Amino acid sequence: MLNVVIFGAPGCGKGTQSELIVEKYHLSHISTGNVLRTEIEKKTELGKLARKLIETGQLVPDDLIIKMLSDILKSNPNKQGFIFDGFPRTIAQGNALGQLLDDNGGIAVVLNLDVEEKILIERLLKRGEEQNRHDDTPETIQNRLKVYKDQTEPLIAYYKKQGKLFTIKGSYSVEDVFESIKEILDRLVYQNK
Ligand code: ADP
Repeated sequence: MLNVVIFGAPGCGKGTQSELIVEKYHLSHISTGNVLRTEIEKKTELGKLARKLIETGQLVPDDLIIKMLSDILKSNPNKQGFIFDGFPRTIAQGNALGQLLDDNGGIAVVLNLDVEEKILIERLLKRGEEQNRHDDTPETIQNRLKVYKDQTEPLIAYYKKQGKLFTIKGSYSVEDVFESIKEILDRLVYQNK
């Protein structure tokens, strides 16, 4: 199994690169943001709570998001592996993911897409106009970047310590970023053979 975490600030290109990775390496894509947006559309209890938090740029509480992820893993056995996009976002979530994957080879690699803040803001504002995402507004973007710095960024040191972190400059073109990702993943796939 090849389990990959794609990591980075809002707007770093996690979703776009995940789609390319899925196509080439046949991993199952788990985007907690996408799952939450579906819950919001379906107006479930979780969706109603998530809506308020997402629109103000806050995180969904760890216990709820960890339960959600654990249910998804149980109902999606995939021998090839998973790509986790938007999870973990806190150290508690990182610990939970390590435990959940314990019997399935653990996390092979964390791809950290590094993009400077000015570019992140430009991309998110553009996405807000194009895709009508309610969390891509100027105020919410500021808050999401702050939440990223306070709660999510500590995971960089956490995975570095575990020797799993690969940092890729994410401000280049989609194709160039994917080239860097392929170099890393091809090596891992080769080693696993
Ligand atoms: P982005 O990476 O651009 O911030 P996502 O689609 O991944 O967008 O997530 C949108 C929102 O969903 C987040 O701002 C957060 O409120 C919520 N969310 C997604 N994943 C998690 C998570 N693992 N823990 C807590 N909240 C989450």
